[in-house]
Amino acid sequence: MSIQNNLRSIQASIPKNVTLVAVSKTKPVSDLMEAYEAGQRIFGENKIQEMTDKWEAMPKDIQWHMIGHVQTNKVKYMAPYVSLIHGVDSLKLLQEINKQAQKNNRVIDCLLQVYIAEEESKFGLDEEELSEVLKQVQHDKNELNHIRIVGLMGMATFTNNQIQVKKEFSRLKTIFDHYSTLNSKNCQLNILSMGMSGDYTLAIEYGSTMVRIGSSIFGGR
Ligand SMILES: *Cc1c(COP(=O)(O)O)cnc(C)c1O
Repeated sequence: MSIQNNLRSIQASIPKNVTLVAVSKTKPVSDLMEAYEAGQRIFGENKIQEMTDKWEAMPKDIQWHMIGHVQTNKVKYMAPYVSLIHGVDSLKLLQEINKQAQKNNRVIDCLLQVYIAEEESKFGLDEEELSEVLKQVQHDKNELNHIRIVGLMGMATFTNNQIQVKKEFSRLKTIFDHYSTLNSKNCQLNILSMGMSGDYTLAIEYGSTMVRIGSSIFGGR
């Protein structure tokens, strides 16, 4: 199967209201261009340097999503162009994104990453931390006017145990619904980013509105 065929069959299998992020990390620009020529305009990368190199090399109507863990000292490199940052997991990081966005005269959209997996290694906020970060973001004294929290992101445990994955997606959906009535200047949760190549069908069943798919489009890494 070619990249274009993979893309078309995935696009055909997901509902219209679900956004497809083509996860192109480690893949060469020529592969991304194949996807671009098939109409794909949203790409996800997990390293800021690699994403910036690709942004420089590729057409400017692409939306670049940072899906990896973000180091505070690298935010400045993507602040001029990044369209959505999925993996935000601290107020400190939000403050830096806000600062760099301001320097670029922009408002940068962010998702808060929630920890739903059983694995130790996954990043993210627990429910209590999430509640606290949302509270701080909305507090006037923090003056976070150059970021906007537009949703949540989560990664399920990497397992074949469907029951467990369902449980984790369902929990994230419940948390998302709980905050869906937030309606302040910089917090309006509309996007639920969950689901990858192995579990996106399930994620959509459980309310995902944005799937991040890499290997099913571009092949293994
Ligand atoms: C790599 C990655 C993906 C895509 O994974 P695939 O299994 O290749 O679809 C999705 N989300 C995040 C956060 C990733 O790092």
